[in-house]
Amino acid sequence: NQAGGSLLSVRGLTKYFGTFAACDGIDLNIDNGEIHALLGENGAGKSTLVKMLFGVLEPSEGEILWEDKPQRIEAPAVARKIGIGMVFQHFSLFEALTVAENIALSLDPGISLAKIAEESRRLSVEYGLPLDPRAHVADLSVGERQRIEIVRALLQNPSLIILDEPTSVLTPQEADRLFETLAKLKAEGRSVLYISHRLEEVQRICDKATVLRHGKVTGDCNPRNETASSLARMMVGGEVSEI
Ligand code: ADP
Ligand code: MG
Repeated sequence: NQAGGSLLSVRGLTKYFGTFAACDGIDLNIDNGEIHALLGENGAGKSTLVKMLFGVLEPSEGEILWEDKPQRIEAPAVARKIGIGMVFQHFSLFEALTVAENIALSLDPGISLAKIAEESRRLSVEYGLPLDPRAHVADLSVGERQRIEIVRALLQNPSLIILDEPTSVLTPQEADRLFETLAKLKAEGRSVLYISHRLEEVQRICDKATVLRHGKVTGDCNPRNETASSLARMMVGGEVSEI
């Protein structure tokens, strides 16, 4: 991918649940090699937006461009195929199966379990997220379960990885480890869409931020150039006092 060029952009993306617009005319652009935050309070529409990008929900209106070309993303398989990986807020893993067996479920049936285990182990070491492919999910912590989702995404060599509130289930040490992984992905020229409602981590790790409130974009900025209170104001409205 061309360094700095646009990887993914959305125009006027809207999702209605009945008459309620969870996402209401969202414009967003993600360039190659950037860590881009999607910042907003609970209920702002962040998960709904990324579910449209990953083919889980169908947009009601608007369009998605991938590498500047209109792209329909009808299903997660389409998203994975064009180069989008997703780490959901709520994992869908089978407790009774091993790590490798769970990963196999989202891949082509032709790939052997031994090959998947080997590749998963290699990627988990390379990206600093150690994982035993033979372990049963039931025996793993929530942080380890998240690693399965990340390794699963990395196996498909994505150019964009979306993580939905990943640190909400991590210890501070696990979060630091994840941030190193994200820095490595960025150094490789991949893009990250990082969803969070935590200002301090967005300011620490993200190059850009798009702020959502009530389904609408209220700000687009470099979060490092903003004060925490100006970001908070974009998130919750005008009534935040300077602290
Ligand atoms: P966030 O991820 O920013 O917390 P969501 O995208 O999950 O927000 O939700 C945005 C709004 O849409 C919320 O008011 C939520 O209750 C509503 N919503 C989300 N999913 C559905 C659904 N499947 N049906 C109806 N309303 C929904
Ligand atoms: Mg959410």
